[in-house]
Amino acid sequence: MKHNLQQEFQKLYGTEAQHTFFSPGRVNLIGEHIDYNGGLVMPCAITLGTYMLTAPNNDGVLRFKSVNFKEELEAPIQNSYQKDGDSWFNYPLGVIHYFVKGGTAVQGLDMLYYGDIPIGSGLSSSASIEVVTAYAFNELFKGGFSKLELVLMAKKVENEFIGVNSGIMDQFAVAFGEENKALMLDCDTLDYEAVDSNLGDYLLAIINTNKPRKLAESKYNERVQECQTALKELQLELDISNLCELTVPIFEQFKHLITNPTVLNRATHVVAENDRVKQAAKALAANNLAEFGKLMYASHNSLQQLYEVSGAELDAVVEYAATDKNVIGARMTGAGFGGCAIALVKKDSLDSFTAGLTEYYTAKVGYAPSVYSSLIGNGVGELHEAVIV
Ligand code: ADP
Ligand code: MG
Repeated sequence: MKHNLQQEFQKLYGTEAQHTFFSPGRVNLIGEHIDYNGGLVMPCAITLGTYMLTAPNNDGVLRFKSVNFKEELEAPIQNSYQKDGDSWFNYPLGVIHYFVKGGTAVQGLDMLYYGDIPIGSGLSSSASIEVVTAYAFNELFKGGFSKLELVLMAKKVENEFIGVNSGIMDQFAVAFGEENKALMLDCDTLDYEAVDSNLGDYLLAIINTNKPRKLAESKYNERVQECQTALKELQLELDISNLCELTVPIFEQFKHLITNPTVLNRATHVVAENDRVKQAAKALAANNLAEFGKLMYASHNSLQQLYEVSGAELDAVVEYAATDKNVIGARMTGAGFGGCAIALVKKDSLDSFTAGLTEYYTAKVGYAPSVYSSLIGNGVGELHEAVIV
């Protein structure tokens, strides 16, 4: 169903929206499970995300509505806010909490959100709604924060107001993303390079496995532990503070120090994946999509075999992609165990890819995946045209 957001705003609030803001979601193109090992990640903003329409009101209240959710909230303007159950509006409320606590004078505002991004599937709709709200409040109420400060504020909302323990990559990517550029990012130092990533005749297909990511959190913690074990053993002979300081040849020379074969597999993935990110940046900068595609498959294979964070659903997507001549590369993206995979698919072949994948996947998994088409898009900003999505 198409949504004419300006019309929906008018219908819901009886007044015209004055501003429309947009923040994308993100995918990580390559560099998986290495941010907590001091490695490089390579996310990009996608062209799916969260729209936020606003108009001032004279009632001195904050009104929150979302096309995606039934619940709505009307809150008075206060000096601080508290999380209210598990409702969606905690995300924007958390952002506003940090604005008012920081001394920004907020006035009555009617707000309408709409996400055309799959919500709760690992594409970071949460960072998207946080960052769009932070950007809008900064613009509308002259918060005076830099973009990086908004990113840090949004992360604080996720970590402290909502209570989800996550890194900086998501908020950073949705704020700083640029059209046709991947962001090669060091999550510790926040140094990053915007790498030219012209997809040419290809688009970014995002495939939601539609499998709930149940295992992700406990397995994530287990992997963090395993990497720490590997690091401690290597530190017996090497002066390093994280695994990603090692090149592949140095790791090969010292890997005998790792006693447990499973832990050895984990560390082997980490070191090689970090190297793949650097190779991927070179391939993209040289416009060599075929090489980039090979690195995507290699990354998936390593996450499946060595890091063991894939699963039958994500594997089925990548297996099918490898058989389709119009696909140049595919891999799981995000923490794994469900969520989404990405594939580079020829623009004019998305329909046949979707049909073939759906048949293959449904036969294997028992239900259908959802396929979304995206390009590498811009980060958060204000839009000046009517939005029908
Ligand atoms: P992900 O970030 O992977 O999409 P999360 O569980 O971290 O999944 O965040 C999803 C939550 O973010 C939703 O349950 C909802 O509370 C909030 N959210 C995201 N997008 C919207 C939206 N368009 N409208 C209202 N709430 C949203
Ligand atoms: Mg999230």
